[in-house]
Amino acid sequence: MKADLETLKTIPIASPQIGDEEKSAVMAVLDSGQLAQGPVVETFEREFAAWCGVKRAVAVNSGTAALHLLMLAHGIGEGDEVITSPFTFVASANAALFAGARPVFVDIEPQTYCLDPALVEAAITPKTKAIMPIDLYGHPAAIHELQEIATRHGLVLIEDACQAHGAAIGNRKAGALGVSASFSFYPTKNMTTAEGGMVTTDDDAVAEKVTVLRQHGATQRYRHEVLGYNFRLTDIAAAIGRAQLAKLDRLNERRRRNASVLDEGLAGLKGVTTPRERQGYRHVYHQYTVRIARDRDRFQERLLDAGIGTAVHYPIPVHRQPLYIDLGYGDVSLPVAEDAAAQVLSLPVHPALSDADLDRIVETVRKVASTA
Ligand SMILES: *Cc1c(COP(=O)(O)O)cnc(C)c1O
Repeated sequence: MKADLETLKTIPIASPQIGDEEKSAVMAVLDSGQLAQGPVVETFEREFAAWCGVKRAVAVNSGTAALHLLMLAHGIGEGDEVITSPFTFVASANAALFAGARPVFVDIEPQTYCLDPALVEAAITPKTKAIMPIDLYGHPAAIHELQEIATRHGLVLIEDACQAHGAAIGNRKAGALGVSASFSFYPTKNMTTAEGGMVTTDDDAVAEKVTVLRQHGATQRYRHEVLGYNFRLTDIAAAIGRAQLAKLDRLNERRRRNASVLDEGLAGLKGVTTPRERQGYRHVYHQYTVRIARDRDRFQERLLDAGIGTAVHYPIPVHRQPLYIDLGYGDVSLPVAEDAAAQVLSLPVHPALSDADLDRIVETVRKVASTA
């Protein structure tokens, strides 16, 4: 009877790992009386920079704010173009819009779902200022190939690492692969601060600009040199972040192990393509995203009926969003991204899955695939 009830419980697609460490760290901040940006944010920044392998880390209150300030810190503005992927969360491209620039979408690689370096050069114009790849699902984009193109054309490479805490190419971590990068600490990400974000960079000037812009353009107290924002992180959030960072490597190992169990269980299954980890790259499986050859939405419904929570990242590529159609992107055609949007399905891979959960996911996916 108990086992029956257990199997009725839906396995969620995400499960933030909050324990006693996070709770007591938050209570300590609440007791300290210093709640907004203060010493805990500073410590979190130092620890994150050291962990990531970069010179500087600057905390902000979302991944979106990190991308927005990176655009401004790199001098991207009105009339500029930013080459990026259409297959991402809308925040990536919106960051260019916030700065008054125009995102130019280039199609993705079908295997990694990241920006395809082979297609980038044809999209470069005299207005292009930056290339912004996204390390989608926790797999680094082909940053070395993209950096080579950026260098050749005098462009800056900004890495959207919002889904890739702990991913790597060789022994360089995501966030340290381009000139500068953004992270998000939204609850579904590999580590969280509830809401929060981080800019990482080896460029002191970029770090200084982001630091000023997140605080109303203040270079000292009540002296405002430029138009800035209130994008500060709180010490409450940073306290959660420090506790999460201390567990991140272990949580990522768990995700990788879960992914390998799913890989093995789903290997050779007709109509279901498992994710790929490029050689020399480290995938941290923010999402474990498979491709369903036929009728993805029905497949998803049947999984949910059997108690497997899934999600589609993302059902509408950015250039097909109503906002972007209004902005004049209606004629843009990017077939690889459009096919992916129709076929991808993310299965649970989060660190809280038990061996029984993994077995159930594999069994159910196999059953649904065999009767599709
Ligand atoms: C989550 C995410 C963002 C935005 O981060 P927020 O913290 O939600 O603002 C940007 N880009 C990508 C690829 C993301 O996954």
